[in-house]
Amino acid sequence: MIPPQFEYYAPSSVDEAVALLRRFDGEAKVLAGGHSLIPLMKLRLAEPKALVDINRIPNLAYLREEDGYLRIGATTRTGDLLDSALLRKSYPILTDAAQEIADPLVRNLGTVGGNVCHGDPGNDLPACILALGAVLAVTGPTGPREIPAAEFYRDTFVTALEPTEILTEVRIPKARSHQGNAYQKIEKRVGDFAIAGAAANLVVDGAGRIETAGLALTGVGPTVVPATAAAAALVGEVLSETHLANAARLAEAATDPSGDLRGPVAYKRAMAGVLVRRALERALARAKGGS
Ligand SMILES: Cc1cc2nc3c(=O)[nH]c(=O)nc-3n(C[C@H](O)[C@H](O)[C@H](O)COP(=O)(O)OP(=O)(O)OC[C@H]3O[C@@H](n4cnc5c(N)ncnc54)[C@H](O)[C@@H]3O)c2cc1C
Repeated sequence: MIPPQFEYYAPSSVDEAVALLRRFDGEAKVLAGGHSLIPLMKLRLAEPKALVDINRIPNLAYLREEDGYLRIGATTRTGDLLDSALLRKSYPILTDAAQEIADPLVRNLGTVGGNVCHGDPGNDLPACILALGAVLAVTGPTGPREIPAAEFYRDTFVTALEPTEILTEVRIPKARSHQGNAYQKIEKRVGDFAIAGAAANLVVDGAGRIETAGLALTGVGPTVVPATAAAAALVGEVLSETHLANAARLAEAATDPSGDLRGPVAYKRAMAGVLVRRALERALARAKGGS
């Protein structure tokens, strides 16, 4: 399939990119890795009048701890997450997720910003950034603003981002001691989108009691599903079989999957519960210093 005709721009600054988006008044799209947008255009499910390619904007691809945050620039490739020793050590949930995103070809081009902004319930990074309590830094015609990840996802392919705004950075609170996290996913075949996925982030005290918990789910709702009640029920507890079962039950109750080629509703819901258990167990082991 061939996409309809469009204009192409490659701005060299965020301000220039925002001005272009503004000029097209909602009819232009940001182009990052293109691995989600271009297929949609080929199917004519997206028909932007112009593409604003942000790949030539300098200093938008980086990954570093600074001023209390892990900061990930929007055009950082998902493959870079997999290669990072810092993430493997302190934010292994992102290594887990990157490992599960498609294949090396997709990871070499697909960006963190694109994965986060696309709003596809099958994307793996949104659940991770929700569980980690991230904030999204965006810039638009009125300047920069921050949007908590928990307020970013509205519906399938619908986010809080205005059509004239660009995501510049994902800000994740810097890892604390006794923090552990994990992402678990099942797929029909290697490299596929999730049947279901679960992201868990825990901070425990010296006695193993949970101080903070974050949980979110992939592929089991119109957009990423925060499992807020399941996470809240864990705070103050020492994780036991009863707590795991309760968290799985509450997480399942938060889901709203649709039946499709990846499985029927009941199966996806049950898998969400199974994966929440596995993600919590691994997150706890990591919080206690395991791998
Ligand atoms: C075969 C295949 C398998 C895949 N499997 C998986 C998988 O298992 N898990 C998974 O998570 N993903 C998967 N993907 C999707 C892949 O990870 C995409 O790369 C990702 O979803 C989008 O990133 P991108 O950089 O390619 O974004 P693009 O396709 O360029 O853009 C996607 C959307 O985000 C917007 N956008 C991008 N960057 C910004 C920004 N900085 N600011 C504002 N808006 C922006 C674009 O305008 C567009 O609407 C797969 C893709 C393919 C082709």
